[in-house]
Formats: sequence, C-alpha cells, structure tokens
Amino acid sequence: MRTDVAIVGAGPAGLSLAACLAGSGLGIVLVERQPETVLADPPFDGREIALTHASQAMLARLGAWGRLSEADIAPIGEARVLNGHMPLALRLSPPERAGEPLGWFVPNHAIRRSLFETVVAQGEARFLCERSAVGLELGGREARLSLDDGSAIDARLVVAADTRFSILRGLAGIAADRLDFGKTMIVARVEHDRPNGRVATEWYAHGYTIAMLPLRDHVSSAVLTVSPAEAARLMALSDEAYGAEVTRRYEGRLGRMRLVSTRHPYPLVAVYARRFVARRFALAGDAAVGMHPTTAHGYNLGLSGAWTLAECLREAASRGADPGGARPLLAYAAAHRRASLPMYHATNAIARLYTDERAPAFLARAAVLAAGAALAPVRRAIVARLMARPPALAAA
Ligand SMILES: Cc1cc2nc3c(=O)[nH]c(=O)nc-3n(C[C@H](O)[C@H](O)[C@H](O)COP(=O)(O)OP(=O)(O)OC[C@H]3O[C@@H](n4cnc5c(N)ncnc54)[C@H](O)[C@@H]3O)c2cc1C
Repeated sequence: MRTDVAIVGAGPAGLSLAACLAGSGLGIVLVERQPETVLADPPFDGREIALTHASQAMLARLGAWGRLSEADIAPIGEARVLNGHMPLALRLSPPERAGEPLGWFVPNHAIRRSLFETVVAQGEARFLCERSAVGLELGGREARLSLDDGSAIDARLVVAADTRFSILRGLAGIAADRLDFGKTMIVARVEHDRPNGRVATEWYAHGYTIAMLPLRDHVSSAVLTVSPAEAARLMALSDEAYGAEVTRRYEGRLGRMRLVSTRHPYPLVAVYARRFVARRFALAGDAAVGMHPTTAHGYNLGLSGAWTLAECLREAASRGADPGGARPLLAYAAAHRRASLPMYHATNAIARLYTDERAPAFLARAAVLAAGAALAPVRRAIVARLMARPPALAAA
C-alpha cells in the first residue's frame, strides 16, 4: 500500500492530526491496534481532560466539539490549589466580566469518540485497525512501515502517535528523556453529598495528593496520587471501602462520597523526545511529549502540535512540495518544541515540588502558593494562558 501520510495510533493525537489534515489533498492512512468498534465507542478510562479555550476552539473548528453531548462537557468555574492545612489557597478564576468558564472537563473516551466520528465523516482517511506497526525503514524517497500481519505501507511521511512508550520512536533512532515520579494516580468518579460549586481543587496533603474535578454539582472525578504500593492496596478495596477512603482523605469537605465508576491507575512517567522529527518521520502527541497530568496539558499540547504539524504539511502540499521533506518537518519540530519545552519543565518542577514530603519542600510550596495568591499579575497570567485563543480561531 502507498500513501502520503501514515499515522500510527488512532488515539486523541493521531485522530486529531487526521482531522486537521482533511482537505489538504494528502492521502492519509491510520494504523491502530485496537478494533474499529472500540474506536467508535471507546470505554470509560477515568481520565477527565481539562481543555483550554484554544483546544475548544480547535475542536470546534474541526467539528469534533459539536459531536460531544452536553452531558460530556463540564465547565470549570474556578481552580484552587491548597497546601496541607494552610488556610491560604491559590485561586484561579475567570475575569468577572468574561462570563466564560476557565476551561472544560471532557472525558477522554468522549474526545476519542467525537474525533473518530469527525474523521469518519470527513471520509478522507483510511483506517487499518487491529494491526500493529512493528517495523520502520526510513528511506530518502519513502518510509516503509511494517505491520504485524506481514503487510507494509510505503509513505512519504510516517507520524508516530503511539503513546509515550512509543515503539516507533525507538525504531526511528530517537532517544527520549524519561522522568519516573515513582507515584501512581488513581482516577474514578465519586458522588458526594455537598455540591462542588464547579470548583476544581488540588490539595497537597501529607503523603498523598488529592484533586477533585467537578463534573456535575454532586459528581466529581477524584484523582488520588500515592505510592505504587499504596495504589495496589487501594485498587484492591471494595467500592464501598474506596468511597470511604476518599471521603476520609478529602476530610469530608464535600460530605460522604460514593464510588460511581470503575477505578483506573496510571503510573506517572513523563517523557520528552530529544528530537521530534527524523527523515520522513515525525512524533506527535504523547510520543513526542508525555506530560505529568498535574498541569493538565498533555492532550492540549498534543492537539496544538497536531494542528501545527498539519499546517506545515498543508503549506508544503499547497506548493506541490514533498510533505515528508525536511522543510515542513523542521518547521513543525521548532514550533512544537517552543510551545512544549517550557511547559514540560515547569510541570515537572511543580510535580516534584508537590510530591516531596520533606519539610523544605513544604516550605517551598508554601512560598510559591503565597506568592501566587498575593500576586494578582501571576494569577492573571495563568488564567490568560488557559483562556487564550489563537487569533485565527477567535471566532470559532
Ligand atoms: C490520569 C490522566 C489525566 C490526564 N488529564 C489531562 C488533562 O486534564 N488535560 C490534558 O490535556 N491531558 C491530560 N492527560 C493526558 C492525555 O490523556 C494524553 O496526552 C493523551 O491521551 C495522549 O494521546 P495520544 O493519542 O498521544 O496517546 P494515547 O492516548 O496513548 O493513544 C495511542 C494510540 O496508539 C495505539 N498504538 C500504540 N502503539 C501502536 C502500534 N505499534 N501500532 C498501532 N497502534 C498503536 C494505541 O492503541 C492507542 O490507541 C491526562 C493523562 C492521564 C493519564
């Protein structure tokens, strides 16, 4: 088989790229190891993705936002960060006159489903499901992707969106920096007696971190970060005992909590590829930048990266140039590095500072929070970043 662009991985990043490339005139093949029925109706995986205004605008432009059901979209009224039992909180809220939320929580499986429906409706990409990419040869004129059924695809460009533990990244000879936080995050939905007021809270308690993400007035996603051993113990609890454990760890702030979903553990490992491109090859989504979830930027960056890569490829295609050539790939790599590297380092610094149990870290957290709480310009800058829309998408 021959195509212009072969994308490996039909997760949120791979699907976003395919959707962004519609209308470019480029042939697109998506290779995914999961069955098409799973892509059409992905199961709940516990992740509630906080989307920025820029991401919302991009999804709206692609037609994916309109495919989400209202029940899947939870506006975020305010975000608060708390350190131990200090009364001081860092509060982030939209400017009073904006009349808009800080962002939105949308379940990961709903994003996947809406993107899949979008790509199918566009009718331009071809899906090869239940097949895994297992081999890669990067040639001067074409790249050859080998699949586990013995077939191969010759493409002018191969894009790997095959998770942060990307196999293709290694096959392309690209090394990646890896940071293992030695913690596991358990995510699950809970129902609670008191309303959450649409406030997302991240609380750094002693020995663990607990975040509450508001989904409906009396339903939140409870995000618990603990040691792997503690995570194994918590995963083995009955649903009732887990609800009681979350109630206790959240110190009853929202009243009694009951588990209303399955629980999903995620080991926390951040990954940053040393290069985003090679000859006829590019990395996208978590395969390029796998973020710690604390600043909620993984998919937001994956989507903006897919948008950028698609723009570079479109520009090449419109000139009749080679989409797998060095110029569009280097332009993408430079832009995506600029957009992601400061956020990656800042996120890792925050994640380390907030999971360190030693007294100096507690004091450093207190100082950072106090500075953030006292300095209105700092708060305004964070809020402005979350709510910013690229000028070209302002009207989307
Ligand atoms: C608990 C948690 C909370 C998060 N919260 C947020 C948030 O609030 N905001 C935010 O922006 N981000 C958040 N993220 C990050 C976000 O979920 C990821 O950035 C995003 O899902 C990555 O998408 P992806 O398509 O790159 O990878 P994946 O979702 O991992 O998808 C990769 C796809 O590739 C397929 N695949 C892999 N290897 C092969 C192969 N060899 N051949 C064929 N197919 C293959 C897989 O089957 C899969 O479908 C969170 C992550 C976690 C764990």
